[in-house]
Amino acid sequence: MNERTEYILIIEDDHQISRFISYALELEGYKTKNANTAQGGLSMLVTEKISLVLLDLGLPDFDGLEVIKRIREWSEIPIIVISARDADKEKAIALDQGADDFLSKPFSAVELMARIRVAFRHVIRKNSFEMRTTQTVGELLMDFDKRILFKSSQEVHLTPLEYQLMVLLFKNVGKVITNRMILSEIWGHNYGTDTQVLRTLMAGLRRKIEENPAKPQYIITEIGVGYRLKDE
Ligand code: CA
Repeated sequence: MNERTEYILIIEDDHQISRFISYALELEGYKTKNANTAQGGLSMLVTEKISLVLLDLGLPDFDGLEVIKRIREWSEIPIIVISARDADKEKAIALDQGADDFLSKPFSAVELMARIRVAFRHVIRKNSFEMRTTQTVGELLMDFDKRILFKSSQEVHLTPLEYQLMVLLFKNVGKVITNRMILSEIWGHNYGTDTQVLRTLMAGLRRKIEENPAKPQYIITEIGVGYRLKDE
């Protein structure tokens, strides 16, 4: 087993879940710290060397959304939210406030590890000055210089908006992006929350890249939250 140096902070008041997460992470060689209150977690972030936060939204002292807001005032550390499955609206708000991703309870150790790997990969990418000119996901290859998307070496003819959307998905591969983030990125900040225009754009894009647009293999819908370009 390879030794990792990252400490992962688990802010979760449910001891069973907290123990399950610690155990799964330690099996993978990560070191963990635990806090069972929002305040305890925030203090630990200041005093300990933490490189990723797993955050429950329902905490006894104050709301997890408030924790995200406070962390983002001074830190860009990756935050993965752990939330109840029916809290779609909360998930979207958490992501819009600066969380990097979310996991819905109950989740498996495999899902947890996949999300953590994606989050760490994005940190490395953000910190390296290497400018990628191409990027692949499955059969898709995006050429950022030529501004062309290929599928199985065939050019996919995209409209300018479809191209912008595809770039946004590629830049966040493996991560969920909320409807609001996409709307503001592509149509500007004042566009509001009209997701119909986004659904139409997405449907067109899926027809071009998915074998079966009704069962997408690349762009996955996160119901009530947004979309995720699948990362193999
Ligand atoms: Ca809780």
